[in-house]
Amino acid sequence: MRILVVEDEQKLATSLKRGLEADGFAVDIALNGDDGLWMATEHDYDGIVLDIMLPGMNGYKVCGTLRDVGNWTPILMLTAKDGELDEAEALDTGADDFLRKPFSHLVLVARLRALLRRGSTERPVEMSADDLRLDPNQRRCWRGDVEVELTSREFSVLEYLIRNASMVVSKQDILDHVWDYDFDGDSNIIEVYVRHLRKKIDEPFGRAAIQTVRGSGYRLNADGG
Ligand code: CA
Repeated sequence: MRILVVEDEQKLATSLKRGLEADGFAVDIALNGDDGLWMATEHDYDGIVLDIMLPGMNGYKVCGTLRDVGNWTPILMLTAKDGELDEAEALDTGADDFLRKPFSHLVLVARLRALLRRGSTERPVEMSADDLRLDPNQRRCWRGDVEVELTSREFSVLEYLIRNASMVVSKQDILDHVWDYDFDGDSNIIEVYVRHLRKKIDEPFGRAAIQTVRGSGYRLNADGG
């Protein structure tokens, strides 16, 4: 079994390699995301251990890119922070499992073996609310059979709403998750995006999936409206 370890902390990378080799794996190391992506594309690995915070291309991007080109090598992502968001995002980009740092070698090997047993089958990651579907990897959106063109920001707002389907989310919640920290504008900008989204995913189809909850924010109806 040949494993690619993509990890920029040299010491950790080396100890992972030694440990995994002692367990009978063949191990290659990439010290940044770009090399990792290249190696994963050029060679046929049985599994990839992928750190998220990497110089150059980060782990999410490496994972998303591999899935985009139809590479379904099992990926175990290493998350540094103890944030649930990190982990949700890891799975959204098409990772198969994640492991929170610091981890024990025994746990790593157990999780890796479990992944390798499952093998690399195609597992497109889609999100949906009734007949509204999103493909976060390719950032495409459909209402039924009709593909809907969304801008990148519209997509991110809709993705956040679907991820929280049936729950009320405030404008501030959306702002915090979709805009970066440098944005210091008015949260009313969300209204503009919601209006655009309704014109694209709801009105042409006679739906009203994005509901306004007066004084609180918005709620995406899980049955798609
Ligand atoms: Ca790192």
